[in-house]
Amino acid sequence: MESGIPFNRPFIAGRELEYIEQAVTAGDLSGGGRFTRGCAELLQARFGIHKVLLTPSCTAALEMAAMLCDLQPGDEVIMPSYTFVSTANAVVRLGARPVFVDIRPDTLNLDENLIEAAITTKTRGICPVHYAGVACEMDTIGKIAKKHHLMVVEDAAQAIDASYRGRPLGTLGHMAAFSFHETKNVICGQGGALCLNDPTLVERAEILRDRGTNRQKFLRGMVDKYTWVDVGSAYAPSEICSAFLYAQLEMMDTISARRRTRYLCYQAQLAPLEARGLLRLPATPAGCQSNCHMFWIILSDQHVRDALLEYLKSQGILAVFHYVPLHSSPMGKTFGYQPADLPVTEDVSGRLLRLPLYHELTNEQLQRVVDHVVSFLTR
Ligand SMILES: *Cc1c(COP(=O)(O)O)cnc(C)c1O
Repeated sequence: MESGIPFNRPFIAGRELEYIEQAVTAGDLSGGGRFTRGCAELLQARFGIHKVLLTPSCTAALEMAAMLCDLQPGDEVIMPSYTFVSTANAVVRLGARPVFVDIRPDTLNLDENLIEAAITTKTRGICPVHYAGVACEMDTIGKIAKKHHLMVVEDAAQAIDASYRGRPLGTLGHMAAFSFHETKNVICGQGGALCLNDPTLVERAEILRDRGTNRQKFLRGMVDKYTWVDVGSAYAPSEICSAFLYAQLEMMDTISARRRTRYLCYQAQLAPLEARGLLRLPATPAGCQSNCHMFWIILSDQHVRDALLEYLKSQGILAVFHYVPLHSSPMGKTFGYQPADLPVTEDVSGRLLRLPLYHELTNEQLQRVVDHVVSFLTR
């Protein structure tokens, strides 16, 4: 009996425990220590981000970004419905309204051609989600934002080490959020980062992150005691998580390269099925360099998708579908949306399937997945 193939297996880069031991020995465990600083500096230098603040999750980074946009009750933020709940919750928490816009059928990213029609006098921002680590059309989105004086927050949860026209994702909005959840490319269990590309946002971001106090100014000797100056929360990670993360960030080239070989294998092997019209593969538009976070396929209808999921499961292979669209979820409906409002999102979500993709997926395992997909779709 061949062993099962999970959907994901967290990759351990090698020095995680060594760095955790160093952090424990240094005794500076609550964050702001050598590894938390080191991770932020590494990300800033590698991608050219003005300021990175590590957070306990991408969800926390998105919440901070929404607060830094100064959203007020009734304000609107444009985003896809085909995303994780955190994108929407960040604005809903502040009494603002997520305005869901449909996605492009090729990349499943926010359709930049539908954004302007969704702008009202209450629109304050746009939150593009780089699905599967493929960039949204950021030049167009940036132009629209500038014309209408809107903030742009990239949900780059899946998009670390990907780029758009030579520029790293995470540097293209006023702010961006990365995730280091164990299901992402670079991990620390749970973790995230807020990228601040607008220097005027840094001072308030540090206060929000430090429970609404000016502790960072105090630590730099700029005030002689620290006190409550704004709203805030505990949005800094533990030094132990940062130590784990540092070991991963050091290995980012290896992590990205390995995922790319897995991705390209799937792509080459499944291309003949696409040529026969039996499935559709992800598109990477010219100028976009994907980080190969995910390999999705779209089947001819939901029935085939569900039957393929079941078949793969019976063969010990765990493939999974993805988002239940937010606009047709119970919470989304409270904002007045109907499923038919976003036809591409509704259609794609019922037909999409994600294949196992992780660092240690061997050629043999990948071949088994491909063989079963081929035999199911051609029988
Ligand atoms: C994973 C993910 C998040 C949430 O990240 P956490 O670090 O788990 O909070 C948000 N948005 C998208 C698009 C994601 O894929």
